[in-house]
Amino acid sequence: MEDEDLYRFNAEASKFLGVPIIRISKEMTPWELFAERGMIGNSRHPICSILLKREPLDLWRREHCLEFTTTLYIGIDWTEEHRLRDMRQRMPTWRIEAPMCEEPLWDKCRMLDELRAIGIEPPRLYSFGFPHNNCGGFCVKAGQAQFAQLLKRMPERYRWHEEQEEKLRAQVGDFSVLTDRRGDGKKKPLTLKTFRERIEAGESFDRHDWGGCGCALSFSEP
Ligand code: SF4
Repeated sequence: MEDEDLYRFNAEASKFLGVPIIRISKEMTPWELFAERGMIGNSRHPICSILLKREPLDLWRREHCLEFTTTLYIGIDWTEEHRLRDMRQRMPTWRIEAPMCEEPLWDKCRMLDELRAIGIEPPRLYSFGFPHNNCGGFCVKAGQAQFAQLLKRMPERYRWHEEQEEKLRAQVGDFSVLTDRRGDGKKKPLTLKTFRERIEAGESFDRHDWGGCGCALSFSEP
């Protein structure tokens, strides 16, 4: 589900840091999960985030790490420091650090420049204009602006997601990843197919609706 260039980046970063990658996976894509559960995830019900990322990560941590001893390093920066505070409050028995929240504080451009300076090219999705690098430019929490970007930069990938959504809607009914507020202002399903057709027809969309992600970092305690 991830963009192929992310795996290149991970391998280079792992080699540079001398830290091996441990891969934790349910071996299932979000679409396979939605088919199994009979629903399409969206920003209100991001079941892929919970069942494919948070829960497996939590389980692995409980099985392999020690409270008061293990240091958990979190990949968030100072623009999201509130999330670090939340995690520390919810998990007081764990040592949680986020080096990108510490001085020197670098903005995103500086971080990407520093990466290039040590010979690692940032994952390509950033240069394609995506705000995050999860699920290959797709996300059930993403908004209209991100899907328009996916359609523009990776139309084949957009089409694949559109096909997955159409296939699943035939089974599970009127669910969709995106929502629409046209007309009465109330939220209603907006399929990827309809959204693409609107863009191709030159209709406007919400260019500020990027949505959110951050899906793997909401650790929970039993
Ligand atoms: S990045 Fe988005 S689509 Fe992917 S698992 Fe997280 S919430 Fe789901």
